[in-house]
This record gives sequence, structure tokens and C-alpha cells, in this order.
Amino acid sequence: MSLQLDGKELQKLLTHKWQNAWEAIEGNESQEVFTFNEGYKKFLDRGKTEREATKEIIRIAKDNGFIPLESIRKNSVSIVPGMKIYADNKGKGVALFVLGKEDLEKGMNIIGSHLDSPRLDLKQHPIYEEAEFAMLKTHYYGGVKKYQWVTLPLALHGVVIGTDGERHDIVIGEDEQDPVFFITDLLPHLAKDQMEKKMSEGITGEGLNILFGSIPFKDKDLSEKVKLNVLNILHEKYGIKEIDFTTAEFEVVPAGQARDVGIDRSMVGGYGQDDSACAYTSLRAILEIELPEKTAVALFVDKEEIGSVGNTGMESRFFENMISEIYDLMDNNYSELKVRRALAHSNVLSADTLAGFDPNYPEVMDKLNAPFIGKGITLVKYTGSRGKSGSNDANAEYLNKIRTIFEKNKIVWQMGELGKVDQGGGGTIAYMLAAYGMEVVDCGVSLLSVHGPYEISSKIDIFMTYKGYQAFYNEA
Ligand code: MN
Ligand code: MN
Repeated sequence: MSLQLDGKELQKLLTHKWQNAWEAIEGNESQEVFTFNEGYKKFLDRGKTEREATKEIIRIAKDNGFIPLESIRKNSVSIVPGMKIYADNKGKGVALFVLGKEDLEKGMNIIGSHLDSPRLDLKQHPIYEEAEFAMLKTHYYGGVKKYQWVTLPLALHGVVIGTDGERHDIVIGEDEQDPVFFITDLLPHLAKDQMEKKMSEGITGEGLNILFGSIPFKDKDLSEKVKLNVLNILHEKYGIKEIDFTTAEFEVVPAGQARDVGIDRSMVGGYGQDDSACAYTSLRAILEIELPEKTAVALFVDKEEIGSVGNTGMESRFFENMISEIYDLMDNNYSELKVRRALAHSNVLSADTLAGFDPNYPEVMDKLNAPFIGKGITLVKYTGSRGKSGSNDANAEYLNKIRTIFEKNKIVWQMGELGKVDQGGGGTIAYMLAAYGMEVVDCGVSLLSVHGPYEISSKIDIFMTYKGYQAFYNEA
């Protein structure tokens, strides 16, 4: 095929460069971008832990007409297309469904994200006294760089179930009036030995102990009076004793709210954007789906950061069981085969974050294949490490289907990979859904400082991801 064009025209026609999404939007749209991100920042503040995010998603879903699955069974409500249903997974994950016109057997359009983020958990027997300080022992959760967690204000988010079965949700450090907590670091003056260590060893896991108090209980005859005093405060305020920590779940996260970043306010800085960036955008997208052709599903899971294990992680049978429940309510002739077909015929966006090109660390990225902050929603054909080990590696047919949907809907998108070959790697929930035979591709927001206490996203990417997810629900 010969084209009668000059070089400039030919170049425009044949070559490809990803577009800066800020340059692609028009008129009022940039106001829409900023407004959308106000809601996103609130979600980051209200959902720092998987439990809080689940609660917030269910609250918003209920406000938008979603009803709990168990109430449908209890009240023998008949299932009709357009119905909005949610299924809570132990308060640590949730699935939202908008039932489609088409038979479920033909498959669903699923967007799956995760609600857990790297953090420090309290150990089960955490409180001790050392040098007249009350201290808390922690155990880190997920992939953290330990040195990032010292000398910053921390908050405690937890749940304690009393022996009477009563549940106490405890959050300390998020209200302006609250105290915060802190892990110390050595002053440079005395850090000669520490500074010679490898970064992975300069701060150790067992060294991540939290300053929790320093006033002794007034009683001459006792030892460990500072520990007693903090226990006394905890008992007075929250009714809990030391033994209650052994069965509680306490998560330590950076204190404070998400903020605008940059003089142009183009970015959001905040904790837990991996993966709240994808959770919030998929939530907002499904809220606007009214009567889809295919059943739309927004799936929010826990434990992704530690391998998707456990009964609230993607490896559990929760999602499959919920599909069985819905099928059973829908169809008097329930059969396992129909459930298997519904799963196998589904399309999935595995909604997770990726590392964007960082001008401070260009050496770990292949600039031609790295995603860029501000260049829209990122599609990721493969993740994994070394020779794509552990990767879902989406097929060309499905990638093209998603690309076509994005192009048709003017979604600014980019194809990205996770860093240079042999530089490291990682994975998502993609391969677990693919195991059912579903078509799956990773697709979400690229961030800077992923897994840091404070991660950075671009507001235009958050918005484009929401738009992209919406187009997927409507057209896949
Ligand atoms: Mn993630
Ligand atoms: Mn992660």
C-alpha cells in the first residue's frame, strides 16, 4: 500500500505517541476532573483500612439503591434486570451487582480492585515498657520499605471484640484533636553504623516499635507504671484490657488527610491509593449503570498485598458463591454448569495500580513502555517478574476489544509495564479470575511512590479511569 503523503503527514499517520490527558480534555471538563477528585480524596480519608473502605462503599451503594443479597432471599423479592445488589464479605470486602438484561450465562462485566494497603499491624501482645516509655510492637503487612515508616505521624485503626461479643471500632490519630503515634529514628550525629547498612537493614522489622506514652501511674510500689497508665487510659476510654489486644486487629497507618499536590493542584497525595484509586473509580462507574446488557459487577477484595489468601482475599470462594446465590434466586433450575458458564464467559478489568515513570528514578523504567502520570488510564498486558513469571498475560483479542471501547469513548489511555525487564516485578488478582476462563486484563491508575506512606496520583488519570471503567460496563 503506497500512501501519497509527505513525510510529516506520513509520520502522523504511522507512528504512535501517548497523549497527555490534560491536553485532550476540553472546556468544562477540567472542572469536572477537579470536582471528581474532591470525592476521591474524601474516600481516601474515610477508607484507610479494608474494613473502613468496605463500610464506606456499602454506605454509598445503599444511598444509590443497592440492597443486600440476604434481604432478597429473606423477603423472597423477585429478581429483575436493573436490580442493584450488594454482598458483604465479612466487612472486609464487598461485591456490587447491577443485573443485566442478558442471561447471566452469557457472562458478566467485572471490575475487581482491592481495599487493603501496605501498613503496620500491631502484634497480638504489643504493649511493653522500656526506659519508662510505653511502646507498641508492630508487624508490617504487605510490601513496605521499612525506613519510610519512621518519623512520621501515625494513626491507629482497629477493631476489638470483647468477650461479651461487643464490638469496638477504635480510630485514634485522625481527628485534629487526637494524639498521633510515632516511630523514632536515630539522629545523624549517632548514625555512623546505621548509615553504613543496606537500606533494607537500616531499619528492621523488630525495630518498628511505636511510642505510645510516657507518664507513670502514680503508685510508688509498682514497676512498669507507664505501661499501667496507658492501659488505664485505654480502659477508661475504650473499655479494653491488655488481654483484648491478643484477639484484636489494629492497623497503623499514616495520620492525616489526602491533599492536593503541585502548584497547579494536578495531583493527589495520600495513603492507600494502591488500590483506592481503582476502588473509588470503579465504585463511581457502577453507581451510574442503570440497565446494562450484561450484568455489571464491581468486586472489592482484601488481602491482595499479602497474596490474596484468606477468606476475604481473591483466592477465597466468596465471589463464586455469590454468583451461585444470585443464580439460585434467579432461576428455579439452578445448575452448577450455568454458574461455571457465567464465570467463564465474563470480561474482567483487574483494577490495580502500576508504577508510573518517575523522573527521579528513570533507571528502573523502559521509557518506551513505562506508563506516565497524566497520560490516562493504564492498560497492562502482563505483570509478573523475570520471564513474565506469575503473569496473567492478556491475549491480543481481548486487549483489542478494550482498546476499541476506549477509543470509541474518547478515553485517554496508555499501555504500560511494571518496570524494566529483570528489575523486579509483582502481581495482581488477574490470574485468579482468569482461572475461571474469564478474559482478564490489568487496567488502572499509575502512581508515583507506590506502597509509600504517601502515594501520588494524577487527577486526570483518576478521572479517565472512572470514564474508562464506565465505558467498559456499558460496552464490553
Ligand atoms: Mn495494588
Ligand atoms: Mn500493592
